[in-house]
Amino acid sequence: MQAGALRGRRLTIIIGDTQAVAVKQERNVRMCAAPGEEMKVMEVKLITRRVVFILLAASARAQVNPEICRYPLGMTGGQIQDEDISASSQWSESTAARFGRLDFDNGDGDGAWCPHIRLEPDGHKEYLQVDLRSLHFITLVGTQGRHADGMGNEFAQRYMIKYSRDGNNWVGWHDRKGRQVIEGNRNAYDVVLKDLEPPIIARFFRFMPVTDNSMIVCMRVELYGCEWLDGLVSYSIPDGHQMIYRGLDVYFNDSVYDGASAERLTKGLGQLTDGTWGLDDFLHSHIYSMWPGYDYVGWNNKSFVRGYVEMIFEFDHVRNFTSMKVHCNNMFSRGVRMFRQASCYFRSGSEWEADPVTFRPPADRVSQVARFVTVPLGDRTASAIKCRFHFGDLWMLLSEVAFQSGSAVYNTSLTPRKHGHPTNTLPGDDPTHKVDESNTRILIGCLVAIIAILMTIIVIILWRQVWQKMLEKASRRVLDDELTARLAIQTEAFFFQHSSLSTEGGSTSNSTYERIFPLCADYQEPSRLIRKLPEFAQSTEHLDGAPHYAEADIISLQESASDSSTYSITAVNMNLFAGTDSSMKEFPRHKLTFKEKLGEGQFGEVHLCEAEGMQEFLGEDFSIEGNNESPLLVAVKTLREDANKNARNDFLKEIRIMSRLMDPNIVRLLAVCVDTDPLCMITEYMENGDLNQFLCNLRLKEAADEDKAEQEEREGTSMVSYCKLIGMAVQIASGMKYLSSLNFVHRDLATRNCLVGKNYTIKIADFGMSRNLYRGDYYRIQGRAVLPIRWMSWESILLGKFTMASDVWAFGVTLWEVLTLCKKQPYSQLSDEQVIENTGEFFRDQGKQVYLPKPLCCPERVYSDLMLSCWRRNAKQRPSFQEMHAHLTESLA
Ligand code: ADP
Repeated sequence: MQAGALRGRRLTIIIGDTQAVAVKQERNVRMCAAPGEEMKVMEVKLITRRVVFILLAASARAQVNPEICRYPLGMTGGQIQDEDISASSQWSESTAARFGRLDFDNGDGDGAWCPHIRLEPDGHKEYLQVDLRSLHFITLVGTQGRHADGMGNEFAQRYMIKYSRDGNNWVGWHDRKGRQVIEGNRNAYDVVLKDLEPPIIARFFRFMPVTDNSMIVCMRVELYGCEWLDGLVSYSIPDGHQMIYRGLDVYFNDSVYDGASAERLTKGLGQLTDGTWGLDDFLHSHIYSMWPGYDYVGWNNKSFVRGYVEMIFEFDHVRNFTSMKVHCNNMFSRGVRMFRQASCYFRSGSEWEADPVTFRPPADRVSQVARFVTVPLGDRTASAIKCRFHFGDLWMLLSEVAFQSGSAVYNTSLTPRKHGHPTNTLPGDDPTHKVDESNTRILIGCLVAIIAILMTIIVIILWRQVWQKMLEKASRRVLDDELTARLAIQTEAFFFQHSSLSTEGGSTSNSTYERIFPLCADYQEPSRLIRKLPEFAQSTEHLDGAPHYAEADIISLQESASDSSTYSITAVNMNLFAGTDSSMKEFPRHKLTFKEKLGEGQFGEVHLCEAEGMQEFLGEDFSIEGNNESPLLVAVKTLREDANKNARNDFLKEIRIMSRLMDPNIVRLLAVCVDTDPLCMITEYMENGDLNQFLCNLRLKEAADEDKAEQEEREGTSMVSYCKLIGMAVQIASGMKYLSSLNFVHRDLATRNCLVGKNYTIKIADFGMSRNLYRGDYYRIQGRAVLPIRWMSWESILLGKFTMASDVWAFGVTLWEVLTLCKKQPYSQLSDEQVIENTGEFFRDQGKQVYLPKPLCCPERVYSDLMLSCWRRNAKQRPSFQEMHAHLTESLA
């Protein structure tokens, strides 16, 4: 091997390897960033959100946040010293362990760590070991091969990770689905980053290359995370139970626990310390392709005669505990409530102290939102805490437990830890308070600086806005700016991905972290951005005469969109939807009786209610077909009480739109309650919920299953025939045909936005915005933009152009979802960034674009004549909804 300096480098980013990461992290951000929502100007909003997030993260959080905890820990920067990097073997002195630093050139060595022997298939015994000197929370790992400026070509295609907290007990990392092997590098140059989901809490790490062929492997690595200041080294709990909810198996076991499991789980850490919080509705974990209940550990009251669950928490040394934060589910409509009482005992030596601290949180019988409950621990001193959590209902579900002690304040400053710094205590050492004080001072300094910078930015932006307003007469200018920024984000991501894959060398940043989450994104005019890409610069004029994105949006956006975190949905040339609605009648609120919560949307909750006297209220014209029940069951969508003005306007906008739509395949708005708060819209009730969940729970009826299926179908169970699926698609096409006759662009057609009633009746819904529940379906770039990119046409993504033809594109994807019974997300094998890259291929049209594959049950003709035609590059060549409706109806005959 040749010695070589490592100058050139490229970065391949694989963010959010699983949807779960994206969804859960996004959720964490959303909850923390809420105070930033009120700002009108998008840039201010985004920056404020980010800063507020950092402030909150720095001051209020006791628990580690995987979103923030992503600092390179010192392989790259040199803070990890040579003596802390070791290996099972080395090929030669110049490929020793100390050269296994990602993209780090000290002008020495051969460019990477390479083990002594050729790696045999499955002979993954070789390892590169890093000692971080103290416990760390690791969220991300990066690997690179050895290129030695073109002279080397060794890399690890796949690898595994082992870790240890004490240096003796080693645990093999696996993801939430039990997969141990991580896909590594494809060439010797690119850096590949992988999210660790679940994250690891450990001090020692081993990277173990795995190969398919007997080959030489070399590796350079980096670990990303932050110090684990919680001090918790293990917890012991009874393992979680299984719930059967309406025939559905819901598993509440601690699936990532890394200790021993016998009668109790002991000596390990797991889901309660993985930094991710469970959803409000524990049944919804399938949205990130996990089994229901996976984000909680939960227990059934009936198995605990004493009425409580006992948990023991062991810490690295004696600490002064101020509080414990416990993230609990409170979905009482499903028999789950947060704990009624927590009694905590303390131990500093060998005996538990007799007097516990007892805390009773007030029961919440109103909100079913999952939340953190803070249990004060009264500054008690201990190295172990035993807490008894008393059941408040049949079930108790916890997703996270974190402790605040005298020495645990998370350092969110951007400087990575310094090696040899006194905070890097070994487990068992006693950290000095002096260090914490100085950390706090640095932190306060940073926060003051950030606030000052923020104020300056706000002043500059406001000044710019005033200036722009003076110059521009059009009142739509603000809207245009928001869209500009939004598209800039999309396009920025496209370029970013594009350039990150093709640029070799010359990178100036020495922190990979900065490149993953730049703190101050630089917004640019999308037109300028588009022109920066050579191919776009020349060809924007050739795009079928497509107007410039901003023009397109001004045409299409007749009403102002307000929430910048989601894209807007409005009509093209829709005078129809201008003005206020006079036909929608106010329904007396007191005649609504709450039955159960149906779901949660962008604006608030959706409830099933009985509406007394609704049939008479509506009169004959409005009476609901086939529904003579009295009182009538209706779905009531309520605007959350703390909604800001913009959300309120959007809600009213959705009412205005829906009130004018009248079609058997569009969900009907029946009445409203808008005279007083909270604002409500009352729609017809669709008893089978949304189409995505509905299909997800079904199986396709094969020809061989005919008899069985007939029987199951009669019993109302879980099989569906191809004909029924096409019947559903016909209904969606029919609803869309109606919308297109009004020139109405839906912008968000997908199975998640269709509802299912009796006898497989399908109706299109969601004329508001994107859905919280399915965040995984929406693309987020640095937590700022939400776009359903997997359903969007290339011109919507790259040019911001939404037309009937882009709805046709989305229909093609929706048809694909229907025929695959929503078992997978579209392009599930591609990351969000790869989907954007694929969009670029549609634009380039060099035959490299990837299409969704033909669903198994789909006849060749339906696939090629219908589905593929929806995804034609030239929007004019895509079929109309009328044609598709006719085609599908015909195929049924
Ligand atoms: P948003 O559009 O604000 O995101 P949705 O209107 O989609 O919210 O409602 C969220 C959830 O509530 C849906 O997924 C569905 O499960 C339920 N839901 C909404 N409307 C109805 C309805 N008319 N009938 C039955 N369930 C409904």
